[in-house]
Amino acid sequence: MAKQTHLHCSFCGRSRDEVKILIAGQEGHICENCVEHAQEIIAQELNLKQESNATNSGFKLNVRRPAEIKKFLDEYVIGQHDAKRVLSVAVYNHFKRVTNKNQTDEVEIEKSNIIMVGETGTGKTLLAKTIARLLNVPFAIVDATVFTEAGYVGEDVESMLTRLLQNCNYDVAAAERGIVYVDEIDKIARKGDNPSITRDVSGEGVQQGLLKMLEGTEVLVPPQGGRKHPEQKMIKVDTRNILFICGGAFDGIDKVIARRVNTNAIGFSVNKEEQEMQRKNLLQFVNATDLKSFGLIPELLGRLPVVTHLDPLDEETLRSILTEPKNSLIKQYTRLFELENIALKIDDGVLDFMVKKALEYKLGARGLRSICESILTDAMFELPGTDTKKLHITLDYAKRMFGKSKMGILKVA
Ligand code: ADP
Repeated sequence: MAKQTHLHCSFCGRSRDEVKILIAGQEGHICENCVEHAQEIIAQELNLKQESNATNSGFKLNVRRPAEIKKFLDEYVIGQHDAKRVLSVAVYNHFKRVTNKNQTDEVEIEKSNIIMVGETGTGKTLLAKTIARLLNVPFAIVDATVFTEAGYVGEDVESMLTRLLQNCNYDVAAAERGIVYVDEIDKIARKGDNPSITRDVSGEGVQQGLLKMLEGTEVLVPPQGGRKHPEQKMIKVDTRNILFICGGAFDGIDKVIARRVNTNAIGFSVNKEEQEMQRKNLLQFVNATDLKSFGLIPELLGRLPVVTHLDPLDEETLRSILTEPKNSLIKQYTRLFELENIALKIDDGVLDFMVKKALEYKLGARGLRSICESILTDAMFELPGTDTKKLHITLDYAKRMFGKSKMGILKVA
């Protein structure tokens, strides 16, 4: 019996009381921590061996010409033609650079990371996601607000690569040609004009941290993310060919643009109508100077050379979003009912009503989904399993359902 108390893990040396499980072998023992750790090492080693063959995780780069990329985007994203054109060209050039085998080229093509400016819910994430799908490259969405300068509470910027690796099953070679979408980049703008007063660990500090990664460097990435597993073996990822697309709403940037555009316009006679039209969508004139005034540091902007904007969604666009994209909301609901052998018919007036509500609640395209839900939930709850073969949604029905939903009640209150 006394011998039992001396049992310990032959790998880490922890004693029986310090571990949960101790598995006995012929000559020694191993604890659950070491088994876990060994498993990670095996997974990483196997993946490293596969590095030269990126198709192991099913990602085989599918380079397309700009016009083809734009055409594909048109199937899923409504409007946003400027952004689509700029993105298509930037992405094409990026992957041309990646696949250029001529290493001795005297002209070195620089990376064209992208920054998109546009209100929330206008399709920034959707554009980035759709491009990654077309090109068949790993894709990760990360939120810039979770990052803090290294050494502070929060995530290190390296963890965005963890997400990318996880999304391609740790296929390093595939990840090294992936696309990372960094959302809410505007939230890490410098907090004030005087950076020296207090440390800005979640603003300028993070921007500094991003510089090398955006430009291209070898980064040691914790495979499980975070700092919780200090003993985990890091994976080396080269970011030279990873395309970073950043997006943000940059609330209030229109005023910055207006100031600049007006100053520049002095001495030019721009007619009144034109001025009015331009004021409506100042975002189209956004450039790096405005983003700098907003609080992004010049070094970061230098690594995001492609700047584009997304238009706010008007009534007509919202209406098209409901029905036109390949996987539009209405097509999705129709399919859901079809699977129950129910034919769904929605009156045109209902679609107009949905759009009106989305605008009224200032929810953009994202709101269309909750509005559809509030109108169709009762039917989706009650009809399965009944004999009903048809469901006709009239304006009256839609108004009634919406009125008694949480969204409708809130508005009344
Ligand atoms: P953002 O990243 O700009 O905040 P998202 O791309 O996440 O917005 O858009 C939210 C949702 O709204 C998407 O899932 C999509 O269904 C819809 N949506 C937004 N803009 C468009 C658009 N231009 N065309 C089609 N759907 C859109």
